[in-house]
Amino acid sequence: MGEGCEHLQGIDKVKRAKRRVCEDCERMGGEWVHLRTCQTCGVTRCCDNSPNKHATKHAHASGHPVIASAEPGERWLYCYPDDAFAEY
Ligand SMILES: [Zn+2]
Ligand SMILES: [Zn+2]
Ligand SMILES: [Zn+2]
Repeated sequence: MGEGCEHLQGIDKVKRAKRRVCEDCERMGGEWVHLRTCQTCGVTRCCDNSPNKHATKHAHASGHPVIASAEPGERWLYCYPDDAFAEY
């Protein structure tokens, strides 16, 4: 999966959300729309439709390239540096 993206190709087991909350929003009392799970460290953060966009902030701050949707029934990965999507 992830044609042309070594980050997506390097993933053999997708990390799932431990808890279905954005840990940063929970701490600051924020709200979120959808959840994404970082495939490097396993933290779950909120998507770009959410006011605080914590998943993208985490990716940029940490350099962790790949997130997975943490929404039930959604099975896809996204790589920030390559702007690449893959379903699994
Ligand atoms: Zn990549
Ligand atoms: Zn958040
Ligand atoms: Zn991470």
